[in-house]
Amino acid sequence: MKKNKVFRNLSIDYRLIFADDTNLTDYKNYYAALVNFINKNRPFFTPPIMEKWGLDVLVAIDPNEYVVEKPDLSLDFEKIRLGGDYKNIDSLAMSIRETLWDLVTIYSGKDCPITPNDELRYIKIRKDDNSEQFLLECAGCGRAEDIYGNEYVGGVGKMWPVNRVDMNRYLK
Ligand SMILES: [Zn+2]
Repeated sequence: MKKNKVFRNLSIDYRLIFADDTNLTDYKNYYAALVNFINKNRPFFTPPIMEKWGLDVLVAIDPNEYVVEKPDLSLDFEKIRLGGDYKNIDSLAMSIRETLWDLVTIYSGKDCPITPNDELRYIKIRKDDNSEQFLLECAGCGRAEDIYGNEYVGGVGKMWPVNRVDMNRYLK
């Protein structure tokens, strides 16, 4: 009971992001506002939650280096789109994760071979030994392939967005 009330307060706090227009003046501000919200509420966004939804990576990157010029979302519609209720910290964390990814995703222009309605996006997999693999990934079905179209079977790691520097490095 008490836990529900505390979470409800967090949901209200989350909605305040959208009540403050300065957070929605541009995409980088919006990204920073969401990261700020997470960092202010770390008792909810525990390390396991951060890791489960990849938020540990997303709060660590610099919006100036990663937020794309024309993300696939409209700042005008964010208020309406995200005004709903969240059942628990997982559903809120998942929603924020999707928004942050929308803001940093560079698409490849190539359709997924498994789910053709999805466009593959560029990502990096960073493994525990700090090695990186540059891949095309489908947010719909999770298929990942290398730049030659071969399915990725190289093992797991943390998923990172890529930025223009990575693109120049890997797609030369
Ligand atoms: Zn797919």
